[in-house]
Amino acid sequence: MTDRKAELAANLAVVEERIASACAAAGRARDEVTLIVVTKTYPASDVRLLADLGVRHVAENRDQDAAPKAAACADLPLTWHFVGQLQTNKVRSVAGYAHVVQSVDRSRLVTALSGAAQKAGRELGCLVQIALDAESGERGERGGAAPDLLGELADQVAAAPGLRLDGLMTVAPLAGPYAGREQAAFERLMELSSRLRADHPAATMVSAGMSSDLEQAVMAGATHVRVGTAVLGARPRLG
Ligand SMILES: *Cc1c(COP(=O)(O)O)cnc(C)c1O
Repeated sequence: MTDRKAELAANLAVVEERIASACAAAGRARDEVTLIVVTKTYPASDVRLLADLGVRHVAENRDQDAAPKAAACADLPLTWHFVGQLQTNKVRSVAGYAHVVQSVDRSRLVTALSGAAQKAGRELGCLVQIALDAESGERGERGGAAPDLLGELADQVAAAPGLRLDGLMTVAPLAGPYAGREQAAFERLMELSSRLRADHPAATMVSAGMSSDLEQAVMAGATHVRVGTAVLGARPRLG
């Protein structure tokens, strides 16, 4: 094993143990939680090593980096998640490789994704990203829609050709009433998820929790955690 592969294997083992412990503490089965490794800023060679080590879900947040990486890894049995703020002019590219777009937060983006998915002849899974610190009717600074826009956006995704409504995503807010209260934030997301599932029973995904707060997300009921630094190491640059 190369040094890098051994390092990734050791980090994955630690993360796996954290997820398993959190599931046990929450009285949840381990297979209720899926690990998504966020590979942003790291090279395609790391993605390849991760796939070799059994990782099946990866995430990226910038199309410029993600598109060539996904192309270089097209032979691997991976599900690609897009988790970054998405400009409509990048949608056509993203629809070419992403299986799930987790950052759907406005009506114009839904329309663009639907058009691009149809052109590409693909079905795109979509999560509505919720900004728990956004004001009513607005988008958050790090992307995401205010909770009161959820119903409208969800209905639009569900009705859009080429798109599949899979559920919800959030990033624990740094400001506002949930700042520093990750578990409360994730519990709020779970309430929104219950409400969503009343109208859209198949939209069961709840993507929450990162390297620093995955335990709180698992405790709250998240189905997917997105872990970057705890697996790959501290990122060389902001991303
Ligand atoms: C970078 C990123 C993550 C992973 O963050 P870490 O703290 O490195 O685990 C998760 N979700 C989103 C949306 C991200 O941009």
